[in-house]
Amino acid sequence: MALEELYREVILDHYRNPRNRGRLDEPEATAEGMNPLCGDEIHIDLRFEDGKVSAIAVEGQGCSISQASASMMSEAIKGKTREEISDLIARFRGMMSLEGGTDPGIDPDRPGASLGDMEALQGVRQYPVRIKCAALGWTVLQDALQS
Ligand code: ZN
Repeated sequence: MALEELYREVILDHYRNPRNRGRLDEPEATAEGMNPLCGDEIHIDLRFEDGKVSAIAVEGQGCSISQASASMMSEAIKGKTREEISDLIARFRGMMSLEGGTDPGIDPDRPGASLGDMEALQGVRQYPVRIKCAALGWTVLQDALQS
């Protein structure tokens, strides 16, 4: 299977079967945001235990890129500390060639090795308008962590 096709499959899988969907009772942190260019909306609830994310719930609507990206993000940050999440956000931003990003550590011979399913979003870089779609969940997550 071509890599591009594989990436598309991963994105569609998250879009059709979004992980950690819904809302939390009594969230300790919460935020929402939208991408007016595309009409994407994301709401995130978080709870922590021992300084780590113990629960996350994502609700939203919009295009497949925005919803799949938020679903991947919700899986990636479970059990992580704020510091580890900041590192992930920076590497995601690096992968998308966004400001404040760091080297995501993508190994060209082993796609998906360092960022998991999220690596499927790197093809979106070719479409500047869609980068905002992919980044929305992460932007909302950053807001939630600061709330
Ligand atoms: Zn979108």
